[in-house]
This record gives sequence, C-alpha cells and structure tokens, in this order.
Amino acid sequence: LFITFEGADGAGKTTQLALLADYLRAQGWPVRCTREPGGTPLGDAIRALLLDPANARMAARTEALLYMAARAQHVAEVIAPALARGEIVLSDRYADSTIVYQGVARQLPEHELAAINTFATGGLEPDLTILLDCRQEVLYGRMAGRGAKDRIELEAARFHEQVRQGFLRLAAASDRFCVIEADGSVQAVHAKVIAAVQQFLDR
Ligand code: C5P
Ligand code: MG
Repeated sequence: LFITFEGADGAGKTTQLALLADYLRAQGWPVRCTREPGGTPLGDAIRALLLDPANARMAARTEALLYMAARAQHVAEVIAPALARGEIVLSDRYADSTIVYQGVARQLPEHELAAINTFATGGLEPDLTILLDCRQEVLYGRMAGRGAKDRIELEAARFHEQVRQGFLRLAAASDRFCVIEADGSVQAVHAKVIAAVQQFLDR
C-alpha cells in the first residue's frame, strides 16, 4: 500500500505523516516513511541543489529533471523494494508535486511532465493521496514559524496560491485523492487523516 501526502509548503504534510505512521504501527502494520525530494543519499544530494538559494537562476526544465532524477532513485532504492516486502509506504510528496510546482506554477507543459514522471517511476502510482489543503494565511504563518526559507518557499504569494489551486484541480480529476481541510489544529487534522486512511484500509 502506497500512500502519499501532498499540499503546499506549510500545509502540515511532515507532521501528519509522522502521526499517521505512529497510528499504523500501533495497529501492527510495517510502515516505511520517506520524503521527496530526497529519500535516498543521492536524492538528498539533489535536494540540496534544488533548495539552495544560490541556484536562483536554475531553469524550470533543469529543476523538473532534477526532481525526476531524485524520484527515479527514490522509487528504485526505497519505494518499490518496501512495497515488495509488503510494507505500507508513506511519502511526503511524490509525482503530483511535480505536476503542480513545475507544471502549474512554473508553467511547463503538464502532459510532458506526466510522461517524464511515468519514465522516472516506471508507472508506479500511489494507492491513496492525501491532499492537505490550507488557506494562504495559515500556510504563511506556519512557514514563518519555522524560520529560514528555502528557494521555493521564498517565491511570491501568487506562486503559492497557484500551487494550492493546482493541487485542488488535480484532486478533483482523480479518485485516488482525499482532500483534507488542514487549517485546524494538528490533532484535528490527524483525526481526519486517520478517518480517511482507515476507510481505505477497511474497504
Ligand atoms: O516538502 P518540502 O518542504 O520538503 O519540499 C522542499 C521544497 O521543494 C519545498 O519548498 C517545495 O515547495 C519544493 N518542491 C518543488 N517541486 C516539487 C517538490 C517540492 O518546488 N516537485
Ligand atoms: Mg517545505
């Protein structure tokens, strides 16, 4: 079972993923947590290139290919082997982030990105994608609260709003998504995440 968390910066993906992992492990499931960009030593090296504010002149296509390269390694080295062992894999971001950040927000052609995603992942898609959706003020408050901003978080408010709308549009077009309103407290959102995942496990 492959579950991904998606959403804008500050939506609470990392926090909610960790809480869900605790919940599933308490039920006896083997769980593997991972994240993008990164998840492997090579992927983390690519992540550092992507997020370094010194790389402000990075071309959008370069950016897209670096995310894809990190993802290909992530699938090969972590996700596919864990799924083959029967583990539940929880990933903090995956291919949808590329459609939204590099497609909607950086305006690269979405169908081309989708084709490269398929190449990078060998066609591996999540079984369930939890989209944490948050209002802009809440996102900014959370990003401010954690200090230093990376190259992407430094983008203008318009960029982040495009990201939010882009995710909502993807979610509306696919029944793999579960959209969760994530403005509330950590515990309130966690309860909604559990309800969604439990419903999926029970079906
Ligand atoms: O989720 P996390 O904060 O770890 O992601 C690191 C950064 O990479 C974020 O600022 C996110 O907006 C950005 N990102 C991106 N394109 C992707 C995935 C992540 O710009 N495909
Ligand atoms: Mg971030």
